[in-house]
Amino acid sequence: MSKAIDTRRLQSVAPRKFKVFTHHQLDQIPELSQLPEAVRFEMQVVANVLPFRVNEYVIQDLIDWSRVPDDPIFQLVFPQREMLEPEAFERMAALLKRAAIREEVRTLATELRGDLNPHPAGQMELNVPTLDDEPVDGLQHKYRETVLFFPSQGQVCHSYCTFCFRWAQFVGDKDLRFALGEAEKLHRYLREHRELSDLLVTGGDPMVMKTHHLEGYLSALTAPEFEHIQTIRIGTKALTFWPYRFVSDADSDALLRLLERLVMAGKHVAIMAHYNHWRELETPIAREAIRRVRDTGAVIRAQGPLLRHINDDADAWARMWRTQVRLGVVPYYMFVERDTGARRYFEVPLVRAWQIYRDAMQQVSGLGRTARGPSMSAKPGKVEIQGVSDIQGEKVLALRFIQGRNPDWVQRPFFARYDETATWLDQLRPAFGEERFFFEDEMPLG
Ligand SMILES: *Cc1c(COP(=O)(O)O)cnc(C)c1O
Repeated sequence: MSKAIDTRRLQSVAPRKFKVFTHHQLDQIPELSQLPEAVRFEMQVVANVLPFRVNEYVIQDLIDWSRVPDDPIFQLVFPQREMLEPEAFERMAALLKRAAIREEVRTLATELRGDLNPHPAGQMELNVPTLDDEPVDGLQHKYRETVLFFPSQGQVCHSYCTFCFRWAQFVGDKDLRFALGEAEKLHRYLREHRELSDLLVTGGDPMVMKTHHLEGYLSALTAPEFEHIQTIRIGTKALTFWPYRFVSDADSDALLRLLERLVMAGKHVAIMAHYNHWRELETPIAREAIRRVRDTGAVIRAQGPLLRHINDDADAWARMWRTQVRLGVVPYYMFVERDTGARRYFEVPLVRAWQIYRDAMQQVSGLGRTARGPSMSAKPGKVEIQGVSDIQGEKVLALRFIQGRNPDWVQRPFFARYDETATWLDQLRPAFGEERFFFEDEMPLG
């Protein structure tokens, strides 16, 4: 089963050309020809509604085609029929079968996407910061100390995850996209907000950007006026989807030097790596990328959601966390899949999520127990399921805020009625016969 972990440094890596397939090129992927015609058609149907994009490294080096369709990496990137509700699926299938014109397909796709809660957790309305009373595009400021920045050149990924909670940005529907930002406004916002300590560059995937674009945003932050910005986080799935980004791309070395300069200037640089399965950490190139990033002095922290069909298994999490610790990657979050997109296909009840988390935690040493979770990024904040308990004869779920829209909520335990089927915060009811959760005075869930 498990091979010994090979941690040796790669001597040389031939550059690899990035080759990507989108839904128009689904039938050009050679490996798919082994699947029945009907299954390939189902993929087409889903890929007309949900984003699809996969590159050759993922196809050739990460997916185990002998285990398709159950292979977790296959499930991570390739559309499956059940990702759409049966009715939505049938409507799109009928259109494609009668070779409808593109315009009709697009119109139906837009309608079906609208039913998939494209903007969970009030992202569009609640977190938009302002400069001179004007909303600033490309920034999101939800928690006091951390601002999210969506650079305009980083709004795609090297491949798309089938469960992505930012999927609406990728389907080309203009009003579903976050508006995009630029360096000058970012710098001004940071200068004017001394309460900020963390900048989180996110996307899409900022690592799809050329290094010189990243430099345009980040190099300036070494100046004294940005002394309060102590931490620069970059959210990315490139360590999984395109590790060559850090090893053999034309501007890989320039990227590593940029990270190094930020570290030398006294910043904590954290690569917030999205991982879902230990298989993503097995290839020699993935490990070489991790080594190179760590050599710059940047820290790699790992986070990702718990997903049915991909990683709803405690042993898989334990093995992933152990492998990460072995490779010097710090486990950070286990997320609950958000209430958007194909969530029905991936969702795991909160009670079960907690059981998987606990069962995995019990299998790893203290260094692997730094992952918090299962955590819901909900409207009022990040809520962690702490466990199931029995209080004076009532079975309850113990919860706490890891992050809150109001900082005063953080680390306050609260309780919900035990519910084996709930998959999100808004499906939980307060325990002990109470009407509302304590934070609902300020921020109602309904
Ligand atoms: C998770 C998150 C952050 C960062 O929170 P930490 O607890 O510092 O990791 C910032 N903004 C948003 C919107 C988030 O979801």
